[in-house]
Amino acid sequence: GLILGIESSCDETAAAVVRSGHDILSNVVSSQVAMHALYGGVVPELASREHLRNVVPVVREAIRSAGITYADLDAVAVTSGPGLAGALLVGISFAKSLSFGLGKPLLAINHLEGHIHAALLQSSTQVDEATTTEPTLALVVSGGHTHLYLASQTSGAWHYRNIGRTVDDAAGEAYDKVAKLLGLPYPGGPWMDRLSAFGNPEAVRFTFSTIDRGTPGEPTFDFSFSGIKTAVLRYLETHSLREASATRHTALSAIASPTLEDARALCDPQTLDLIASFQHAVVSNLVRQTLRAAEHTGARSLVISGGVASNRALRARFTEVAQQRGLTVAFPPPALSTDNAAMIAAAAWPRFLHADFAPATLNATPQLRLG
Ligand code: ATP
Ligand code: MG
Ligand code: FE
Repeated sequence: GLILGIESSCDETAAAVVRSGHDILSNVVSSQVAMHALYGGVVPELASREHLRNVVPVVREAIRSAGITYADLDAVAVTSGPGLAGALLVGISFAKSLSFGLGKPLLAINHLEGHIHAALLQSSTQVDEATTTEPTLALVVSGGHTHLYLASQTSGAWHYRNIGRTVDDAAGEAYDKVAKLLGLPYPGGPWMDRLSAFGNPEAVRFTFSTIDRGTPGEPTFDFSFSGIKTAVLRYLETHSLREASATRHTALSAIASPTLEDARALCDPQTLDLIASFQHAVVSNLVRQTLRAAEHTGARSLVISGGVASNRALRARFTEVAQQRGLTVAFPPPALSTDNAAMIAAAAWPRFLHADFAPATLNATPQLRLG
């Protein structure tokens, strides 16, 4: 079964051809990140316009590099939410036209289900047979989400139960906001990750408030990342580091494509310690809360996905604790951690097998939830 996936929920226009939910024949991602970086964040109107410009060449390239023709496709899958309304609409409208024109079924995929399947794509956790799997605990940690799901498969169909979420900022959002405070380029997550190697993670102590919307019998495993952002700001103010951050921003903006060395050279030891400590605190918090949830639910396997799943400290820490506790842990390869369409086509496969098709009236659902 050949499925064409299309993704346009945020600032990546992506298309991919995946065979039977496993084999990636092509995976094309056109990122708008450089354009939005000029504004320090995603500008919805510009995103929509860029998707419109890119969707046709990106899909054409996905078909071409897969070495197939449109007629070979068995279905077209598209992200229907969550995301920016105008951005989602471009992918959806194009997928609908293609599905109608080719006479092939249309599948609507939740972007978060896609992120989870990016980790399942090449791992042994993926089961197609008519079996019921043990529940997997999935942490989706990205620019807009920090959510824990209990994912299980019954007769090939996936079910999700949300058991925790951020009550304010997402982890990726906190990374980006803190990076911005420090004058680092957008998106700041990867910069913070790489600069962490040069600082002392124990230098600054950050604490997290414990949030629980649950009841005694049914606890939730929530996150909060807006406090640490404020704590970083306060630290910069009390240590008179704000001006240095502004200077760093100006200096890095003046370089066409700044390297890690450029950024490092512009960071004083105190700032490098702050960056390493921030990363240590965020990673520890994500790991601690996920392990609590695993213990409570009895899940024996973990899936960590979304943009922040490419964070090196997060991967190392999860791998270590999973080993200690006899849990299995799966991550998407870094290239599939951030937004792509291979994950959309992969998530679509079990739905295709169940003929769980979308109507021709499919619309964007910006606030779509999973589970
Ligand atoms: P969502 O999936 O919630 O709709 P999104 O699609 O914008 O949001 P992704 O593309 O999955 O998010 O991930 C982007 C986020 O991941 C950004 O916040 C970015 O800073 C963060 N990120 C990417 N690499 C790293 C890294 N190595 N360390 C920390 N954060 C990272
Ligand atoms: Mg993105
Ligand atoms: Fe995403």
